[in-house]
Amino acid sequence: MNDLRDLYQEVILDHSKNPRNYGALEHPDREAEGYNPLCGDQYTIYINTDGTDVTGIRFEGNGCAISKASTSVMTQMVQGKSFDEARSLFDGFIAMVKGEKPADAELGKLAVFEGVRDYPTRTKCATLAWHTMKNAIEGSHEVAQTE
Ligand code: ZN
Repeated sequence: MNDLRDLYQEVILDHSKNPRNYGALEHPDREAEGYNPLCGDQYTIYINTDGTDVTGIRFEGNGCAISKASTSVMTQMVQGKSFDEARSLFDGFIAMVKGEKPADAELGKLAVFEGVRDYPTRTKCATLAWHTMKNAIEGSHEVAQTE
């Protein structure tokens, strides 16, 4: 179990130091802002879409290691998915970090964030990216807040 925890921490550190899909999309079809006032995490997520699928996703912003890694991994997971699949991942991720269900095959590498369920303030850092992504695909102009 300790080896697994170390591996998960390595993945989170790697994504926080070298976030994937980082930087603005030049002509995004959708975009949304997220803010976690408890920690100061603040991100903008940009999405390109053909109407039903996420054809491109990038993000900008700053925050703690958990929030940045979560946003980075989220963009990797959602890239190329349909909106329905992205919403399903959202539901699964939220349930996992709330401790309502364990990580499963659908969630894949998102399992690295399962440990945050023991830390309610960290949970808000990890879910910010997902609330913001959901607002973006739904075309909401509200700032996603995890508080
Ligand atoms: Zn944070």
